[in-house]
Amino acid sequence: MVDKQVDVLIVGAGPTGLTLALTLARYGISFEIIDRKTTPSNNSRAIGIQPRTIEVFSRLDVAKEVLGRARTIEKGNLYFSGQWTAKLEFSRLVTPYPFVTLLRQNETEAILEDALNGHGHSVQRGESLVSLTHYPSRVLAHLESDASNRTIEAKYVVGADGANSSIRRMLALPFSGKSFKESWVLADMKAKWNISREEVHIFFSDRGVLEVFPLTDDTIRITGNLASDESFSEAELRKLIEQRSHMDVEIDEVEWFSLFRVHNRMVDSFIHNRVILMGDAAHINSPVGGQGMNTGIADSFNLGWKLWLHLKAGSPFHVVASYRDEREHVARNVLQTTNVATEVLQTTLPVLLPFQALGADVFTRVNLVNQKITERIAQLHLSYPGHSRIPFLRVTKGKIFPEIEIIRTDDGLRTKISEIADGRFQVLILDDDKRDATALYDYLNDHQSFFQIITLSKTSRPFFDQGNELAKSLFMKRGVLVIRPDGYLLHKQRHLRPEALQATMAAWLPTP
Ligand SMILES: Cc1cc2nc3c(=O)[nH]c(=O)nc-3n(C[C@H](O)[C@H](O)[C@H](O)COP(=O)(O)OP(=O)(O)OC[C@H]3O[C@@H](n4cnc5c(N)ncnc54)[C@H](O)[C@@H]3O)c2cc1C
Repeated sequence: MVDKQVDVLIVGAGPTGLTLALTLARYGISFEIIDRKTTPSNNSRAIGIQPRTIEVFSRLDVAKEVLGRARTIEKGNLYFSGQWTAKLEFSRLVTPYPFVTLLRQNETEAILEDALNGHGHSVQRGESLVSLTHYPSRVLAHLESDASNRTIEAKYVVGADGANSSIRRMLALPFSGKSFKESWVLADMKAKWNISREEVHIFFSDRGVLEVFPLTDDTIRITGNLASDESFSEAELRKLIEQRSHMDVEIDEVEWFSLFRVHNRMVDSFIHNRVILMGDAAHINSPVGGQGMNTGIADSFNLGWKLWLHLKAGSPFHVVASYRDEREHVARNVLQTTNVATEVLQTTLPVLLPFQALGADVFTRVNLVNQKITERIAQLHLSYPGHSRIPFLRVTKGKIFPEIEIIRTDDGLRTKISEIADGRFQVLILDDDKRDATALYDYLNDHQSFFQIITLSKTSRPFFDQGNELAKSLFMKRGVLVIRPDGYLLHKQRHLRPEALQATMAAWLPTP
């Protein structure tokens, strides 16, 4: 017997599942989200939220809440054998959020869940997915809880059930990759230490690495690699910190202390018939560089609008399938980068340290290299297959459209393009000389449920391009830009005729 029918069942209410739930709620798609835990997590694994994720949060209307509770960091210091050597600068990143945001994962999850509740949905807690029955056009999900068992019928089941994904096991999917031999220690602590609480600090030493993140004015998080799976006591923390930083530290209270192993693994395919995997269930990587949670959130944001097109508007399944191509490409990229970064951080050969220090010093002084490293950490460099390979070309198809500010005609106030996004494709039309644009406007107006039309010229309403500033910055006098609901540039043309745009959209919209 089926107890409930929904379009989408989301299994797992970590950051990945919650982001997808919030996205689907905003599109009015019917879904259920369950988690086997009876209460929200109080686990603060991830603390680093990257600039690209804040851009996503801006489109989901939770960025202000996150930034209001978080600490933002513009600089990272690198030390070798106790000597300050180099600085990574996030402040020069091209984004409205040129900093790394530090917030405990449970607080990020709480903000997402509150927003979800605000849309009239809640997480069904204390329910575990135990098995799936697959049919060509639906899936039956069998759930168990202390109270009662239920069967949910869904068109799609999304596995956002974390690194030990039960769905992955149910489908017998290999999780290929490697596990590092070394363990890492993580501790959140109140400590007196004479280093800046406004910046991150990474100490390289012949005993291993030590990363220090300021969480509040008096609390820091430290992580560091250990030589082996050795047991490690709280008492040894101070020694580890002092030996690697060459500084004195006074630990007042250790709030959370844990050892963890580092894995770099992913499944071969993120889609299996009607089951879609995302977040840690699909890929896990070393926490070095703070990428895992951010990648899961981006997976969800990539899939959400595609499910809207497919389930609400009737776009073909290949729209949903593009999630697999795009996000597998990104996950592979993240795995490679974090693998190299982890290997570098774990290097303890004394003979290599001076070379690492010299490299860090020279490279970070070159603005372009500094920019490339921080862009990568910020997840702003990520692009989807098909983007132009011409370096320095910022406004190019398949890449994140740079956040721009536009001016409201009525009050002259500036607003970000992501802040006015309403979930549809944003169509920027430069130049409002509509004489030869009638056919373009006819096409867009006929498909209003898909397009948010934003005409931008010196005289346009409700937004205008004072002095043609925007047109100049994009090197486009007139033309059309289409930004996908997830902020990537889909289409660019330098005229106002509709045919090329219609051809691009044919791949995404339902056939009339
Ligand atoms: C020490 C450490 C530090 C990290 N730091 C960072 C960082 O700074 N930045 C960053 O981006 N990432 C970081 N990460 C990674 C980050 O924590 C994960 O990538 C993130 O939690 C993945 O989110 P998720 O929603 O995919 O999975 P999870 O957070 O694991 O959530 C999965 C959920 O599914 C539920 N579930 C599982 N099975 C079932 C079932 N059968 N039925 C119902 N529910 C089920 C679980 O209860 C859980 O709530 C760190 C990880 C570690 C270990």
